[in-house]
Amino acid sequence: MSRLVVVSNRVADPRKTAAGGLAVALGQALERSGGLWFGWSGHITEGGTPGEGELHLQQAGAVQLATVDLSREDHDSYYLNYSNGVLWPVLHNRLDLADFDAGGFAGYQRVNRLFAQRLKALLRPDDIVWVHDYHLMPLAAELRAMGCEQRMGFFLHVPLPPPQLLAALPESDRLMRSLFAYDLVGFQSRNDVAHFSRYVGVEVGADVLGEHEFRAHGKTLRAQAFPIGIDVEEFQALTEGKEAREMHEQLKREYARRRLLVGVERLDYSKGLPQRLKAFRTLLQNYPENKGSATLIQIASPSRESVDAYAALRSELESLSGAINGEHGELDWMPVRYIHRNVARKRLPGLYRAAAVALVTPLRDGMNLVAKEYVAAQDPADPGVLVLSRFAGAAEQLHEALLVNPHDTGRTAETIQRALQMPLAERQQRHAALLDRIRTQDVHWWREAFLAALRETRKESA
Ligand code: UDP
Repeated sequence: MSRLVVVSNRVADPRKTAAGGLAVALGQALERSGGLWFGWSGHITEGGTPGEGELHLQQAGAVQLATVDLSREDHDSYYLNYSNGVLWPVLHNRLDLADFDAGGFAGYQRVNRLFAQRLKALLRPDDIVWVHDYHLMPLAAELRAMGCEQRMGFFLHVPLPPPQLLAALPESDRLMRSLFAYDLVGFQSRNDVAHFSRYVGVEVGADVLGEHEFRAHGKTLRAQAFPIGIDVEEFQALTEGKEAREMHEQLKREYARRRLLVGVERLDYSKGLPQRLKAFRTLLQNYPENKGSATLIQIASPSRESVDAYAALRSELESLSGAINGEHGELDWMPVRYIHRNVARKRLPGLYRAAAVALVTPLRDGMNLVAKEYVAAQDPADPGVLVLSRFAGAAEQLHEALLVNPHDTGRTAETIQRALQMPLAERQQRHAALLDRIRTQDVHWWREAFLAALRETRKESA
């Protein structure tokens, strides 16, 4: 069996449970082949030379972890300015928030080259290399330029915007062309594949050989949707765990006379948090029977605190939730509990299970795992209802959720009302179908489907 090499910006020790479903799933595949996980160490060297960084090797069971330090200049340009300051907003349709003048692209390329140099020294001829996410798009092109011929795949965890929007990114052609150095490129949804197909067909002049096959610069590339899943069994085991049960019981007691709604995300402008709070306010205005009862617990865990757009969003959310509580609250009832803190993964299932409705309404999201976790944590005999944005990748799979356009405040409020009123039989039916789908297409299925397609690529294009 070929050795698997996973490359991602951050590396997790797969033996630690806090690592979460994705890290564990990748870790299992790495363990099977005595694999290597390569990425940034998380360490920044103040005053270090750009383009250089010390390599650290560590053994985690059967898996070797290889990490590289970054100089302050490399970290700031590659990670802060370009990955988070340009690519994240553009890929989430937010050109208005992209700082194109911050000049991070040179650093982005430099770090990709540094990673390629350090990784090349560790690669064996028959390795299979799987690169993850938008931080590392040009990695394969750098490796190929150094003579590496291994099979290489790339998975984009975030969405790909429509071609016209992507074309506004000054480096879009270079980045999309660089993807042709991979044998396989995986996206979260068919929608993303369609955007890719149109972009490379029109802007890169690639020949579209079939639904999934593209040819440009003498290279054939396969591009396909592999919607990422969760580890349903692991999450259900967490739901039965002590921390989750305690959380569930405490909330059930506290909200015995009320209906609980929940939202859980990182505080990020892609997540549609102000729109959600406005829809909840409209729910209270248009359906006053919810007053004194419907309570939204909104977790917005801290994320990228140093970026201006996030600070502005934070104060908008604080003022919106304050306004709703001021307008509608009673002495014994606060409609919104807004919490700007991280909730431990072990406790989350208890919160999900206590909530009659989950509001998962991003403006744009590659997949959205919270939607799937909410389904996994429900009691099948009395499940809650998932209200899901049609702009989350998960909407392509989770048809039995109530789909909404988060920009449409009135209709979203109407849909939340429908969710709160849904009869038990319909809730059970929808939940069973959703659970079935997230079980079939779980994180292990995702991993195996991607790796099987990657192993197939050379055979087809040979
Ligand atoms: N999460 C968590 N605690 C929090 C907020 C989020 O553990 O306070 C976890 C959540 O359970 C999920 C992940 O963070 O597994 C978020 O993944 P998702 O795909 O929904 O969004 P992302 O943050 O990757 O954009």
